[in-house]
Amino acid sequence: DARVAGIASSIRVIPDFPKPGIMFQDITTLLLDPKAFRDTIDLFVERYKDQGITVVAGVEARGFIFGPPIALAIGAKFVPLRKPKKLPGEVISEEYSLEYGTDKIEMHVGAVEDNDRALVVDDLIATGGTLCAAVNLLERVGAKVVECACVIELPELKGRDKLGDRPVFVLVKAD
Ligand code: IMP
Repeated sequence: DARVAGIASSIRVIPDFPKPGIMFQDITTLLLDPKAFRDTIDLFVERYKDQGITVVAGVEARGFIFGPPIALAIGAKFVPLRKPKKLPGEVISEEYSLEYGTDKIEMHVGAVEDNDRALVVDDLIATGGTLCAAVNLLERVGAKVVECACVIELPELKGRDKLGDRPVFVLVKAD
């Protein structure tokens, strides 16, 4: 799709952020480009509008930027998957490992039900640990995860392998 090249070129890469050796993919410049932002949402909406998706789950923080416009356009509810201790109601949580240590994401109990068909949205898949935890949360409450959608993939980190047979759709592969 010709729109993908414009999206890819709108993403800024910042070397050595947040630490030396990391090439940080910065989507804030994509957001500064209304055509690239619009095209990003449109490409996801075109893919998901007829798949019977009832819930879009966005991963904090940048899944909160891309998830809601997709949810509104396809007529699905939006559910935030948040860092620990941010959600005020009863939560279920899922721990996952990082390079050093562990992290956790949480979801409100009752937000997603066992008859829901879910799309998980984040800006980027690296090792796949975050998306895997998100998928586990949704599956634990009985939802069917139709797909995970990200703007960017870092293919070298083989995050897809961690997701097993859950499909991952990305717009841009970064090298
Ligand atoms: P993973 O769990 O290793 O797949 O890392 C993905 C998570 O880390 C996502 O929530 C991303 O927002 C974040 N992340 C990792 N690297 C980058 C990057 O280069 N740019 C933006 N976010 C990143």
